[in-house]
Order: sequence, then C-alpha cells, then structure tokens
Amino acid sequence: MAKPNPFRPFTPDPAQMALKPAVSGNTINGLGETAPRAPRMVYWAPDPDQIPHGAMQRWFYKVDPDNPHLAKAREARARLLAEPMPEVEGMPAQRSPHEWNEALAAFATGADFERWGVAPVDPAWVYEGQQVTQSRVVVLGLAHDYDQIATAPAASAGAEVVRQYGRAAAAAKAVAGWLRRQGWSAEPVTGPMTTKIALIPPALACGFGELGKHGSLINPEHGASFRLSAVLTDAPFAPTPRREFGIDDFCSRCRVCEDACPPEAIAPAKQMVRGTLKWYVDFERCLPFFNQTHGCAVCIAVCPWSRPGVGLNLAAKLARRAERAPAP
Ligand code: SF4
Ligand code: SF4
Repeated sequence: MAKPNPFRPFTPDPAQMALKPAVSGNTINGLGETAPRAPRMVYWAPDPDQIPHGAMQRWFYKVDPDNPHLAKAREARARLLAEPMPEVEGMPAQRSPHEWNEALAAFATGADFERWGVAPVDPAWVYEGQQVTQSRVVVLGLAHDYDQIATAPAASAGAEVVRQYGRAAAAAKAVAGWLRRQGWSAEPVTGPMTTKIALIPPALACGFGELGKHGSLINPEHGASFRLSAVLTDAPFAPTPRREFGIDDFCSRCRVCEDACPPEAIAPAKQMVRGTLKWYVDFERCLPFFNQTHGCAVCIAVCPWSRPGVGLNLAAKLARRAERAPAP
C-alpha cells in the first residue's frame, strides 16, 4: 500500500488561480490530438506575454523571491547567461563525423557536463513559428546533486534545479564557443527557456534514455535527476544511437511517482499527444503545485532510477531478464 502523501490534499493559492488563462495547457500541448504537429510553447517563454500562461509564469518568481538559496542560484545563472560568446573564427575545421565525435569526447573530459550525444535535427522538434536551419543538435546532460533534489518540494530542490540550469547554460556556451573557434557557427540552447526546439525528443534520439511516466527523461546513470541543454550546429558530428533500457516497461509496472505527486497530475496510462501514445503529465494539475513550490521536483526525487547507484544496477537486471525471456 502507498504511503500517505503529506502534500495531499493540495489547495492551489487563489491568487495564482486567478491568473489561469481560458485555454488549457493540455490543449496547447496537443493532448488527445491524433495527428502529428509541431509543439507549441506552453511555458517558460522568454517573453511571458507571448504565451497564455505568461501571468502564471511571472507569478512563479513571486514565490519566496528573497530565499537566499534561490536568489543566489538565479543571480549566478543570469551572470552565466550574460557572458559573451566568441565570434566564428576562420575557415571551418574539417574532420570526419567520427573524428568530430572523438574531438567532442576529448573536449568533454575537461568540461563541466556529464553526458553528451548527437542527433540530426528533426523539424518535428522545432516549436511552431520557429526555424532551425542547422543539421545537428548536440545534447548535453548535467546531473543534479541528488541530496538537494531529495529535499523536494522544498526551496533547496528548486535552487538546485536553477544551479544545474546555470551549469547547463555554461556547458552549452562552452561547446558552442569551442565550435565557433574552429570556424563553425554554433548556437547554444539553454533551458528552461529553450525558445526554438524541445530538448527531450533529441535527448531520446541521441541515446540519453527513455521517457518516464513522470514526463521526464530517465537515464540509467542519473535517473531523472538531471537537466539538459544543447548546441545547434552544422559541424558534421555522427549521430549517437537511441538506446533503450527497459525503462518504459518498468514504468508500466511502477506507480511511485503517481502516488507521490501532490496534485495527482501523473496519469497511470499513456495518452495520445499529437499523434504519439506516450506518458503525459496533466499540465493543469501539475502547474499550480509546481509554481507554489519553486518547481516541485517531487516526481524526479522519488523515482527509483534517480537514487544514486540504483539505475545502473536496475538496467543491468532488466537486460539480464530480457536475455532470459523466450523469443516471441
Ligand atoms: S517513479 Fe516509477 S513510474 Fe514513475 S517514472 Fe520513475 S520508474 Fe517510472
Ligand atoms: S513536478 Fe508536477 S508532476 Fe511532478 S510531482 Fe510535482 S506536481 Fe507532480
């Protein structure tokens, strides 16, 4: 039997709910739509006035603004985002796709990010009304300090998320700068205001992991406890392969995040979203709690894959089980 949830029942702040737009975020996300279409920006718009939930996005920053951990992390991230980038220098360096990946792997050993992968840009990932001309997206993964995330939904977890978004921005700028100094144009894409392209689909495509029931990516090494950033470029990196670890099937038999989610936003079954059957979090249920708790992160913290040392063993166990299973 599930443990009693200390955050239920959840009553949203009426001041926040007064800002709710007429259109549902689930409608914007395409819940129930059976035909594929481009994603629309539902939240974290660079200019909140451009999205229906913009007033709620502004309200997010009015919760506990003087909290010293949050304020320090936000200031540090703003400084990183404001740092200038080098211009593109000289003729583009020439390497084979394999050599480009080797060069990035060598760069990554001295850089401050935990994972990287490459996917060819798929126009289906580009937000409606935006244009991406580059052919490659280099995806970067930055792990949270799990002990901080485990405090969710306290402000300390929210501050850790901001810290990692800052580190993710710095990493994307570092990779983009490295490419520009080799003569290739490169555009950093940093969350949560990614502006042009959704980051989870390329992260899935380049082998970071699988989508969990809680709507976040799960990787065996870091669980769901990491952030993404990316670099758009034409440097001809070799795509890294999509990988599966049995996580999708595991989620179909686990309900830890469902039980832990304070506003009961996590659905037990996959749903149709813009022509794809997938795990989906009810945006309208999640957002009020998310906003009131500096970004919540409870589902990320409780996911068994996120606990340090658990995910890799779990993936190995699932792989052994799959090997033993009789062929269909
Ligand atoms: S808590 Fe369980 S169901 Fe939820 S994402 Fe993690 S593994 Fe999947
Ligand atoms: S982030 Fe949203 S989906 Fe996850 S536990 Fe919090 S309210 Fe639920």
